[in-house]
Amino acid sequence: MLDLTVIPAIQNTLPPVFDARHLIDGRWQADGPTSERLSPSHGTVVSRAQIGTIQDAEAAIAAARAAFDDGRWSQLSGKARATVLLKVADLIEVNVERMALMETLESGKPITQARGEISGAADLWRYAASLARTLHGDSHNSLGADMLAVVLKEPIGVVSIITPWNFPFWILSQKLPFALAAGCTCVVKPSELTPSTTVILGELLIEAGLPAGVVNIVLGYGQPVGATLASHPSVDMVTFTGSTAVGRGIAAAASSTLKKVALELGGKNPQVIFPDADLESAADAVTFGVYFNVGQCCNSGSRIIVHEDIAKDFTARIVDLSKQVAFGDPLDPATQVGAIVSREHGQKIDAYVTAARKAGATVALGGAALQVPGLGPQFYQPTIVTNVTPDMAIAREEVFGPVLTVLTFRTLEEALTLVNDADYGLSAGVWSENVHTCLQFARMAQAGTVWTNTWMDGFPEVTFGGFKQSGLGREIGRHGLDEFMEIKSLVMRIGRTRAPWVRPR
Ligand code: NAD
Repeated sequence: MLDLTVIPAIQNTLPPVFDARHLIDGRWQADGPTSERLSPSHGTVVSRAQIGTIQDAEAAIAAARAAFDDGRWSQLSGKARATVLLKVADLIEVNVERMALMETLESGKPITQARGEISGAADLWRYAASLARTLHGDSHNSLGADMLAVVLKEPIGVVSIITPWNFPFWILSQKLPFALAAGCTCVVKPSELTPSTTVILGELLIEAGLPAGVVNIVLGYGQPVGATLASHPSVDMVTFTGSTAVGRGIAAAASSTLKKVALELGGKNPQVIFPDADLESAADAVTFGVYFNVGQCCNSGSRIIVHEDIAKDFTARIVDLSKQVAFGDPLDPATQVGAIVSREHGQKIDAYVTAARKAGATVALGGAALQVPGLGPQFYQPTIVTNVTPDMAIAREEVFGPVLTVLTFRTLEEALTLVNDADYGLSAGVWSENVHTCLQFARMAQAGTVWTNTWMDGFPEVTFGGFKQSGLGREIGRHGLDEFMEIKSLVMRIGRTRAPWVRPR
């Protein structure tokens, strides 16, 4: 008997099936074949989406190209662009309930978290609006009496945006409003598993007065839609969030035209726990870090590295807390952890646990599918794996499920070796009351974000991105805007002061 906290199905009438259409050059298009999305928790159809073709992708790219080149958006003032972005933010807030419900039904995440994701995304749009008004280049006024130079920032052009299923609306909002603030035009391809909130956003963009063709949406699969968006010569930049394997393919596809590539990829994010830490807070944050979004999170705190002296007690504490986390029906506001996105993904998670067990690891909790009364089979138990060695796949690869691996260390140096012995470098954390330990860790950890005595806090102002195979480029914050800008240097001579280069004969 596992003694887990399980929230059974609540009686709920699901909304009518959502019809997701392409948005190309300001017109909705729905004349092709469709795919159906089943709710991972309920097993019933919740949305039907167009399956885009190469022609759809090319039409969207052509619309974005024309919209960029005629300046209908790129040549507006920052104030005018900010006004539209702020209106979109307001409309997102008005539509939180509708969008959150679709996000929950398509992704399986708890409704309370979907609401948080949508309303938090509105804040990203507001922050991007502030950047649209304040973006500026540099001036060089000390180059000598006869010279003045300015460094201008210009929108990069047409941007392809390809997004995953785990935080469909949040990740779109880490990219799109920043690209728009810069003055770019865009073609967006959401994941085939979670298209609907992107399409609802399309409705809101029109309502907010965004000119036709500035944002185009093409639904469908990586092949051929994503691949066309990544390789097409009329696209100036592709920004992608998803798996490292697909990201590598996108970089290769983009290389034929040397377009700019920004990649937000996977992670295997460590948290190091020292004996002098506030262990109660650390245990709570570790529990949150591994189960948030059922671990289907690039920032999942999926491996902890615990000091030998406290490893046994700390692990027992996490096991105990894990049993108190509410897994179950995502539509119940009491639920903290929902369904796994697909049956295949559930099998992949289970395969990692099975392989670790065979390799000699101990499954201290869980390690199997979870039956939630009244719902389908796509749930997985909170799982903690101990006696793990650093070479095991479960300690090195992204499991993307509610699975925590526990490693141990004796010294800071040893902990840092384990932290940095990884292909990924997205985020890392340290728990200690000693400021020197925290700062030394922060400097030495190879990760785009380091958290000390906290986990997964983020702000629109604070840039995010990965080291090593976790990505290329940065999102949000000021750097997030710069990603979508070209830099042009303008050098000017004042007066006729230049000595001739050609010496008269
Ligand atoms: P995925 O790579 O399978 O798919 C992501 C998107 O790429 C989807 O829209 C998909 O249709 C598209 N795609 C697939 N093949 C393509 C191709 N050949 N060309 C162009 N596009 C293609 O990823 P996923 O399973 O949707 O998401 C999970 C992954 O995303 C995890 O690895 C996770 O770590 C990563 N992720 C990273 C971050 C981050 O910020 N670093 C955030 C969230 C998720």
